[in-house]
Amino acid sequence: MSQKKCDMIRDLLPLYADSVCSEESRKAVTDHLAECAECREMLNKMNQKVAISADTDISALKKIKRRIRLIKAAVTAAALLLLCGGLFGGYMWAVTDCSMDYEKYNIAEDVHVEEDSDGTLWLCMQGNASALSCYVYPTISDTNGGHMGYPDQQFDKEKKAGYGVTLRMFRIAKLVPWKVNAYEQRIKIRNDLQYVFYYDDATNTEHVLWGEKPSA
Ligand SMILES: [Zn+2]
Repeated sequence: MSQKKCDMIRDLLPLYADSVCSEESRKAVTDHLAECAECREMLNKMNQKVAISADTDISALKKIKRRIRLIKAAVTAAALLLLCGGLFGGYMWAVTDCSMDYEKYNIAEDVHVEEDSDGTLWLCMQGNASALSCYVYPTISDTNGGHMGYPDQQFDKEKKAGYGVTLRMFRIAKLVPWKVNAYEQRIKIRNDLQYVFYYDDATNTEHVLWGEKPSA
């Protein structure tokens, strides 16, 4: 086989391998390959190279896909963590209690003291003050009306003469614009008191709800 013929065929081989040469060239190459082992070998090598490079492409693609999967998993985990943190933070914020402002929450209207004929005192609450989201914090005061703090705190027993209440409300309940009328509450309180007051820790002031009638 002449080298010249082989050179000409080899020039055509890439086109032949990709099946893009003319019908005429194709026939010439096919005929030549049938007779020339060297050119057949060249075509084989050419086809192998294409296959190898395709394999390399696929494994690179797989690596990229795996990386994308890892990134997706990390992003999902981070989003879940943020969501859980946000929900927990939101819940903690919502259930944190805060005081009910005397003026804003109509304490004068919703909280009063009733006295039975036998002298028993009742703290009566309605409206916002009796809502499920509200708590009553008892407190003690001295005879001069100065606030002494909650009962679990240290205070001078000799001085105490007043019984106070502080109402606390969940923060989330404070966002509700309408008045909540849950149920009326009557809480029995000590009857050896000179007065009962509401301690407003929003303004740090005491409002007297009931005072002992001067004995005749
Ligand atoms: Zn040849």
